Amino acid sequence: MQTRRTIQIAKMLWASPCSLVGLIFGIIVLLCGGSVGQSSGTLEVTFRASQAPGRALARWLPFRAITLGHVIIAITRQELDRLRAHERVHVRQYERWGIFFFVAYAISSAWQLLRGRSAYWDNCFEVDARLRSTQIERNEYDA
Ligand SMILES: [Zn+2]
Repeated sequence: MQTRRTIQIAKMLWASPCSLVGLIFGIIVLLCGGSVGQSSGTLEVTFRASQAPGRALARWLPFRAITLGHVIIAITRQELDRLRAHERVHVRQYERWGIFFFVAYAISSAWQLLRGRSAYWDNCFEVDARLRSTQIERNEYDA
C-alpha cells in the first residue's frame, strides 16, 4: 500500500510542471468567476458560462475541456461530466510522459498533418484517450 502511494506521488511530481501550467490557466478561469472541485487526484475547474466574462471566454476557446497535468479545465460542469473519462486518460498520459507530453503531443499532431490527416482527431494521444475512455465507460479498462 505504501509502495502504491509512493508511486502515485512520483507520478504527480513527474507531471507537476504540466500541472503548474494547468494551475495558471485554472486561476485565470477562477478569476473569471469559474469554480473548482477535486476528484480522484485531479483539480476540476469549470467556467461559469452563464456569467460574463466566463461566457465570452468559453465561446472563444476552441475546446470543451482540456487537461494540463492533474488539472482538468472544462467549459461547463455538464461538459466536464461528459468528458471526464476522456480527460482522465490524458491525466494518465501526463503521468507517463511528464513534461515531455507537451512535445510528444505536438510531434504527433505535426506528424498527422504531414500525412494529410487531422492534427487533433488522428493524434495518437487523442485516439488512445477515445479508445480507453470508451472502455472505462464500459468498465473494461482500469485507469
Ligand atoms: Zn483529448
